[in-house]
Amino acid sequence: MNKIISKLIDTHSLSVEEYESLLNNITDEEKEVLRQEAVKLAISVYGKKIFARGLIEFSNYCKNNCYYCGIRSGNKNCDRYRLTKEEIYECCNIGYELGYRTFVLQSGEDLYFTDDIMVEIISHIRNKFPDCAITISIGEKEKDTYKKYFDAGANRYLLRHETANKEHYEKIHPKEMSYEHRMKCLQDLRDIGYQVGAGFMVECPYQTNLDIAHDLKFIEEFKPEMCGIGPFIPHKDTIFKNEKAGSFDKTLLLLSIVRIIRPNVLLPATTALGTINPLGREKGVEHGANVVMPNLSPTEVRSKYLLYDNKICTGDEAAECKNCMSQRMKKIGYDLVIDRGDCILKY
Ligand code: SAH
Repeated sequence: MNKIISKLIDTHSLSVEEYESLLNNITDEEKEVLRQEAVKLAISVYGKKIFARGLIEFSNYCKNNCYYCGIRSGNKNCDRYRLTKEEIYECCNIGYELGYRTFVLQSGEDLYFTDDIMVEIISHIRNKFPDCAITISIGEKEKDTYKKYFDAGANRYLLRHETANKEHYEKIHPKEMSYEHRMKCLQDLRDIGYQVGAGFMVECPYQTNLDIAHDLKFIEEFKPEMCGIGPFIPHKDTIFKNEKAGSFDKTLLLLSIVRIIRPNVLLPATTALGTINPLGREKGVEHGANVVMPNLSPTEVRSKYLLYDNKICTGDEAAECKNCMSQRMKKIGYDLVIDRGDCILKY
């Protein structure tokens, strides 16, 4: 077998140069070797269980203007909405009934949600659902704010690093945003005690295999508990509207590689993957993913949280999404389970 591939499988680690060379030269047969190894590892840690996260997209207001994102502040065509606290709680009630034991509260960086308001929301959910994990994904904050959320009962935080190369970061974000600050946020979250999620888009504009090699090295070294990887998909109201979407195959390959680097990582088969291919989530699982994040947001607002074009499941009720996902997983021999789905530390 190719030396780099056996080194990756044996040591869960490569140099940046080796990751790059792997991405540049990999054959279809070698991809299949990695896929099988990734699935074997996922099953050895988590069995044939898939964890479901109930995703509540509670606001699409955002102060940032990330060039790739459909809800960026500069998009005047975006129909903005913000759920009330009561609407968020109602999503959790519905989600709990459906069997979700993790709620993911995601939004743009909406300044309406001050520390006090977020703490009130998190505390309320924590008290009402002591057996559930609360995941927050609302972007970059200062450490004391992250600490307040944590003390109120949040357990996990998703903040994709987006790219581990500063120059690349600067090509896809406006100058007000900083690579150093995003990385500092991830470290602050880790220091506070969160289960932390990093991640990146695949074939986002200007991304090279060397950039991805740095992303993989970052994941190897930072050791996030969760890692979100999905294809970049253009949105019609962004400056990247004419760019092409990231490749399905490459996203699958990267899921496998990340599973091998971090055998116990919580790795979602993302909605973006399901958007570029009708069997995207299933294929994701068959390449090492073990998490899915069906939508719990109220149907009325679903079609407004559009980070990219053609997003799937924007018309479905929460229950339909859950059932659909259960059936999809069953068809490929996996079980969508009722479980908090914490990171198991086996490796
Ligand atoms: N505001 C929060 C949540 C961001 S949305 C935050 O800053 O973390 C979650 C993720 O969607 C982003 O981190 C980004 O990686 C991804 N995303 C944004 N635009 C996208 C696009 N056009 N295609 C694919 N993924 C996108």
